[in-house]
Amino acid sequence: MKIAIVGAGLTGLSAAFELRDFAKVKVFDDCIGGLASSYCPSYCIEKFYHHCFRRDSDLLDLIKKLKLNSKLVWKVVRIGQECNGKIYPLNTPIEIIKFPCMSLSDKIKLAKFTFSCRKKNFDEIKKFDEVKVVEGLKREVGGRLLTSFFLPLLKSKFGDYYEEVSYSWLIARVAIRGNRKLRGEELGYLRHGFNQMIERMVEELNSNNVILRKEKVKKIEKCGNWKVNGEEFDAVIWTAPLPVLKSVNERVYSSAKVKDIKYQSSICLLISSKESVTEDIYWSNVNCRFGAIIEHTHFMPFEDYGENLIYLAGYDRVDGELMSAKDEEVVKIYLKCLKKFGIEEKDVKWTKLFRAKYSGPIYETGYINKITPYRTSVEGLYIAGMTSKPNYPERSMNGSVKAGKEVSEVVRGDFECT
Ligand SMILES: Cc1cc2nc3c(=O)[nH]c(=O)nc-3n(C[C@H](O)[C@H](O)[C@H](O)COP(=O)(O)OP(=O)(O)OC[C@H]3O[C@@H](n4cnc5c(N)ncnc54)[C@H](O)[C@@H]3O)c2cc1C
Repeated sequence: MKIAIVGAGLTGLSAAFELRDFAKVKVFDDCIGGLASSYCPSYCIEKFYHHCFRRDSDLLDLIKKLKLNSKLVWKVVRIGQECNGKIYPLNTPIEIIKFPCMSLSDKIKLAKFTFSCRKKNFDEIKKFDEVKVVEGLKREVGGRLLTSFFLPLLKSKFGDYYEEVSYSWLIARVAIRGNRKLRGEELGYLRHGFNQMIERMVEELNSNNVILRKEKVKKIEKCGNWKVNGEEFDAVIWTAPLPVLKSVNERVYSSAKVKDIKYQSSICLLISSKESVTEDIYWSNVNCRFGAIIEHTHFMPFEDYGENLIYLAGYDRVDGELMSAKDEEVVKIYLKCLKKFGIEEKDVKWTKLFRAKYSGPIYETGYINKITPYRTSVEGLYIAGMTSKPNYPERSMNGSVKAGKEVSEVVRGDFECT
């Protein structure tokens, strides 16, 4: 049996890995690793910041299988929040009490809200899927906390789309992320980069005769069997963004009867700076055209890179102005805002801009019913990736590794001899 896998992001690689001894597998993509791929000058660093969590069991299993366990490091990182142009640490109870941009009563309300989200199971969370996040929050925490705390975060994550986001998503997201230690949040990283995981997977696929075709799929059709870029297959696992399937073959997309999902884009400017922005904070939420400053060398040792590496991370609409602007213009806009935190252009040694058009779904109202099933209405066409169940409420490396595993089980079930 021959299977085509479209997309060599973590979903596609994970599906190929699981099916390597089951069928003849070919993976099509010219960007191995997808959103989790890296930029490698004299070291490798992810194009978009990446870290993992203790609960990421499928990802951690894979890291173990690839014999990279000894590279996995865990660190309690410090986070910060901008208030009137200054970044304040927000980790320990004392730091939270000292934060000047929120009243004590709002801090108590926020703690109670976080606790109540963590207690809810999925069925309870699902009930709010048709409720808009702003409406739900106004009712639950009141207008002041909504305006001063939640709205800036929602706007920085979803831009203009924030009003359409579902309240279920926020509750589910707070529930999974609200599990902090008193000292801060513990995050994991593969020392010297997640690129090593992708390289090991590719080595394993190559030695099991899985073919990686360094090309995008331009043509896909079903005429009896499947034809992908002119070559015949028994089944296709589509892991690329759904709008790409729609543009490659609209009839196949509409026959698959999956629900339309809106995506957003990501824009990350990686900079090497002479100075750090903060003393020791890894992640700072800020009010700029980008929403977060992520100081990678406050997470991993400076010696691994020999320079301060910082991401300025933002989101945009897929047709947003930053997505169509020239690189220099985006760099200019981002660096201008960085000045507010004491980093001048002359302090920046180099910049590298990364943009991803389809970087994540918009979790709008009704999203839970739109989650894409693996098996579609077209025989032999399977879909997995960022819109699959394991990637709700947050798309992640773990969710994509799991989606790749789960879709391969479905394919095996459908094609295995009885
Ligand atoms: C800014 C940012 C930060 C992130 N941070 C984290 C983090 O800290 N921790 C975490 O766990 N996750 C993080 N993620 C999420 C994680 O990177 C993704 O969820 C995961 O890598 C998605 O893998 P995927 O294979 O599902 O999708 P993708 O990586 O998008 O892979 C899809 C692939 O399809 C390919 N493709 C597109 N069109 C075609 C075509 N016509 N033919 C063939 N191939 C095609 C693309 O080139 C791409 O390689 C982050 C993502 C972003 C954008």
